[in-house]
Amino acid sequence: MSATIHSIEAILVDIPTIRPHKLSMTTMGVQSMVIVRIKDSDGLEGLGEATTIGGLSYGPESPESIKLTVDTYFSPQLIGQAADNINTLKVMLGRSTRGNNLAKSAIETALLDLQGKRLGRPVSELLGGAVHRHLPVLWTLASGDTEKDIHEALGLIETRRHCDFKLKIGSRALMDDVRHVAAIKEAVGESASVRVDVNQAWDESTAAKGMAELQAAGIDLVEQPTPMKDFASLVRLSEKFHLPILADEAVADAKDLYNLAAAGFSGAVAMKIAKAGGPAQVLEQAAVASAAGIGLYGGTMLEGTIGTAASLHAWSTRETLHWGTEMFGPLLMKDDIVVKPLNFHDNGVDLPQGPGLGIEIDEDKLAVYRRKG
Ligand SMILES: [Mg+2]
Repeated sequence: MSATIHSIEAILVDIPTIRPHKLSMTTMGVQSMVIVRIKDSDGLEGLGEATTIGGLSYGPESPESIKLTVDTYFSPQLIGQAADNINTLKVMLGRSTRGNNLAKSAIETALLDLQGKRLGRPVSELLGGAVHRHLPVLWTLASGDTEKDIHEALGLIETRRHCDFKLKIGSRALMDDVRHVAAIKEAVGESASVRVDVNQAWDESTAAKGMAELQAAGIDLVEQPTPMKDFASLVRLSEKFHLPILADEAVADAKDLYNLAAAGFSGAVAMKIAKAGGPAQVLEQAAVASAAGIGLYGGTMLEGTIGTAASLHAWSTRETLHWGTEMFGPLLMKDDIVVKPLNFHDNGVDLPQGPGLGIEIDEDKLAVYRRKG
């Protein structure tokens, strides 16, 4: 008799960020996460996380709605079911619930962690095995102030914590953004890669002008310049410029990426376990991308350590991550709720070892940061 799912808890956790994180749609001072704990009938526990960038200003699921979906709709279906057949449980949730991929991602992650702990094997092994044990991680400069961003970047290059940078732009006038980006590229020099994320803020003609300017300034990649549903504009822009486009909000799962590729898009995709519905689910998108000749990039929802570790287990199984990763979420937060934080060094991060995700909750820290009332 295999172990069954005994209980599921979804916990809201709020951790302040180390500095205001300025995006085109909002400025973040706190990151809110939903931590999911699934216990089985043998007393083993699996951990999962669902987190969004800036809540409803980014997408249709909020931390509060994720908790409600897990508590009210997922838990009653999952409790009492065999814990070890993850595909069957995913089929069940897929039939009963459309969308809600962030909530589904937390559940899939927790089930994989639980399975790994039961078998004594890491999640990367459940996904076929890690090809890489150290993954590159860029840093996002998003203070909103050019001099502060340059100072931050030079310090990180010096200590070899990061050598590639992403700039969040799109909330200011185009040429103000271009001057900001060009000044930073000039200051960090040839050896650092500088990319921008517009988070859908431009229309197509602004994007065309912006991409010409950014190409001239030596920028390597432009992320989601136009609104998420404007597939046609992403396709036209990718045909017009040799500066590649990174599709982010436009593509959640494998099907979205297939549609974008079939429409003629070339460039790269920001994979996120949250958008796709989990660390196993996102690898279906990776397969479509590889088949279509679209570059891979390990994207973040600014998850804490649990969601970041889950993503790393998925990314580690791919031979090539053409644009590296942005799994720096834990570094943007002032504190952590795990016993042993991830090890960031040499412009990247180590894949955690040990059964499951290789992550353990610090109960005292969790008690401090869990939302009260
Ligand atoms: Mg993005």
